[in-house]
Amino acid sequence: MSPNYSVFSLEGKLALITGGGSGIGFDIARCMVQAGGSVVITGRREQPLQEAIATLGERAHYMVNDVTERALLNGLVERIETTYGPIDILVNNAGINMKKPALEVTDEDFDRIVHTNLNSVFSLTRACAQRMMARQRGSIIMISSMAAYYGIDRVAAYAASKSGVEGMVKVLASEFSGNGVRVNAIAPGFIETAMSKTAMGGDPDRFARAMRRTPMGKFGQPEDIGWAAVFLASEAAKYITGASLPVDGGNSIGF
Ligand code: NDP
Repeated sequence: MSPNYSVFSLEGKLALITGGGSGIGFDIARCMVQAGGSVVITGRREQPLQEAIATLGERAHYMVNDVTERALLNGLVERIETTYGPIDILVNNAGINMKKPALEVTDEDFDRIVHTNLNSVFSLTRACAQRMMARQRGSIIMISSMAAYYGIDRVAAYAASKSGVEGMVKVLASEFSGNGVRVNAIAPGFIETAMSKTAMGGDPDRFARAMRRTPMGKFGQPEDIGWAAVFLASEAAKYITGASLPVDGGNSIGF
């Protein structure tokens, strides 16, 4: 019997990927296009991205949007659906981090991180889920973090936001499953992007410590998250909802 990979295909499906102009989000978009899907990528930046997005081909589109402007998210979804058709897949990827000892974190720092990584995720998910549920189909993927699993120093606000996302996934999965909408998380370990480079601060000791906690002994690449997202969005994962999938080189084994 010849292999049949069509259950992994995203052909005919449209994905909205927040913060997809760089890092993990860009590779989620790239992998989804390679799997046959179309993507609408959002981000705050305007110009430099158009060229990068163009390398993905004609099934990739870019719209400027700041996820923290929550009152505009419903309009964004409406604009995308009017222009490109129904959104089948939402990937809540946009996120920010900041490393500071907890006692140095101001209320403004804390609010900014939770607002971007958690509050906006809820607003955009609600806007998409209403439409997906009416159509009885959809897949929502949250990009969480190992910081939701472990007490990692100096990321109090980030960990709080990602733990909130993990909790939300289970509740939404339960509430939406009767209407054909699945909700899952991917929890990346150390993935080589601008965010992780800033977090390491070029400090070889910090890097060595991170690698000691990673049985595979190396950073993951953004496409490792990309292919996991393709899987969760595809028919191959049709019985998976409410899950959090670690993609972390074994980090979550916790040895
Ligand atoms: P990057 O900093 O490389 O990319 C973050 C992306 O989010 C950028 O494209 C940025 O685009 C976008 N973004 C940030 N704020 C906003 C906003 N308010 N509105 C819209 N877009 C925004 O980070 P990564 O690719 O590393 O991270 C992606 C996700 O993965 C995040 O949720 C992060 O928490 C998570 N993660 C990453 C890990 C890693 O090791 N790298 C580990 C665990 C989780 P722009 O500036 O144009 O807005």
